Amino acid sequence: MNYSPVIGLEIHCQLATKTKLFCGCEIEVNTKPNKHVCPICLGLPGTLPAPNKEAVNLAVKLGLALNCEIDTRALWTRKNYFYPDSPKGYQITQTGTIPAHDHPICKNGYIEIISGNGEKKRIGITRIHMEEDAGKLVHDFSPESSHFDANRCGTPLCEIVTEPDIRSSEDAVLVLQKIKQILEYTGVSNANMENGNMRCDGNVSIRKSEDAPFGTRAEIKNLNSFSNLQKALEAEMALQAVTLDSGKEVEQCTKRYDANHNKTIVIRSKEDSHDYKYFPDPDMLRIFIDENLINSIRESLPELPDARRARFESDFGLSSYDAQVLTADKEVSDWFDLASKNCKNPKLLANWVTSELMRELKEMENGISALKFKPEDLAQMVNLIEDNTISGKIGKTVFAEMLATGKDPDSIIKEKGLVQITDTAEIEAIVRKVIEANSAQWQEFKGGKAQLRGFFVGQIMKNSGGKANPNLVNRLLDELA
Ligand code: ADP
Ligand code: MG
Ligand code: ZN
Repeated sequence: MNYSPVIGLEIHCQLATKTKLFCGCEIEVNTKPNKHVCPICLGLPGTLPAPNKEAVNLAVKLGLALNCEIDTRALWTRKNYFYPDSPKGYQITQTGTIPAHDHPICKNGYIEIISGNGEKKRIGITRIHMEEDAGKLVHDFSPESSHFDANRCGTPLCEIVTEPDIRSSEDAVLVLQKIKQILEYTGVSNANMENGNMRCDGNVSIRKSEDAPFGTRAEIKNLNSFSNLQKALEAEMALQAVTLDSGKEVEQCTKRYDANHNKTIVIRSKEDSHDYKYFPDPDMLRIFIDENLINSIRESLPELPDARRARFESDFGLSSYDAQVLTADKEVSDWFDLASKNCKNPKLLANWVTSELMRELKEMENGISALKFKPEDLAQMVNLIEDNTISGKIGKTVFAEMLATGKDPDSIIKEKGLVQITDTAEIEAIVRKVIEANSAQWQEFKGGKAQLRGFFVGQIMKNSGGKANPNLVNRLLDELA
């Protein structure tokens, strides 16, 4: 493509509270329609919404994790629209059309990504605002009518808006991944894209060169996976390139992505973009946040992914790639971190986790929490390899048994008699037996055919049931040759 893309994301996530944003109704998925509703979330006249403190705390926590300034006088506004998914006829949010009415709870933050070429890039976070979700219209319940389920009404959401700082669809995916990771590490949201509690809108425009002014953008709504984000951006960029190449202009519009046809489709053009007539909600006070609260939330922040990754690199001597793999998923990362505390060789442990364990996890539905054995058990198995009680090869047998039964490595080794043979005399007997049985090869090996070493080590290991200490085997071969 002869153009450079400019991309900005708007990411919506559901805050992990027990109850809704302005009432005490529980948040529960997969429940009976209209089970969790009350006069407030139905927006009945005469009711007064009161903000959920936990939701505010989570939004502040997210803002701090994304290096934002916190607005200590955030303002609730009404976004007015008519659509039957909202009985009130408006959404309570934190966006205003004039600056005095625009006080989102967080603004001016940033995150860092490491681009494919290893380059570190800073992406600005314009703002984070809180808002309530709408209800759900159900059209497939009956052929004659549409039905309304208000369970989602008033569910607390955050919208995170990035600056148009992203320069490729790959980087856009890295930004979304990093934000998802931070949401998970902080516990601000479950950030599950499949369940729809995290969604992303992608804004993209193209321009002739990196220093040309920004082009006109299209906004692609509701992308629900990393791959759809990337594919939708690519499809839209290609379409804009064709438009510009044919001498036409890109028109600003809102689109959706049709994954089956890999195409972006216009939902509405700028001309019919809505006028939401935002105004401060007269039912709501500003959110007064004091410095003490901000400080205590800052202190409660857990170790964030970038910091953990740096620690894994420096404390354990891991490569940047391995540290990245081990911090990508919070649960896996916590598990490894716990295991490493009991391990004499965390780097070797990291190898086991990134290769053997992760291969198994791919096959498991419920992730690492469903493992039958504990982090300490894998640490202990690595310790046994480290102190030569078992070989790495035996380790695989022990590991398979741990997976299947959840037994600890010491019991498995005792039960199966897998302890490594480190008695020189015992190994020498095996070595001599193997030499005798393969005397022609032995002569060649002695004569300098070094490639045969692998053959002999293999035979000796086989004869010892995999239990001979490989270092001793090699030393004996050298001595006897
Ligand atoms: P709106 O209020 O209409 O949604 P914003 O200015 O808030 O518009 O921008 C929304 C998103 O679009 C942001 O993520 C921003 O980074 C991105 N964006 C703004 N201008 C462009 C552009 N020219 N090309 C690509 N993305 C853009
Ligand atoms: Mg917007
Ligand atoms: Zn309610």
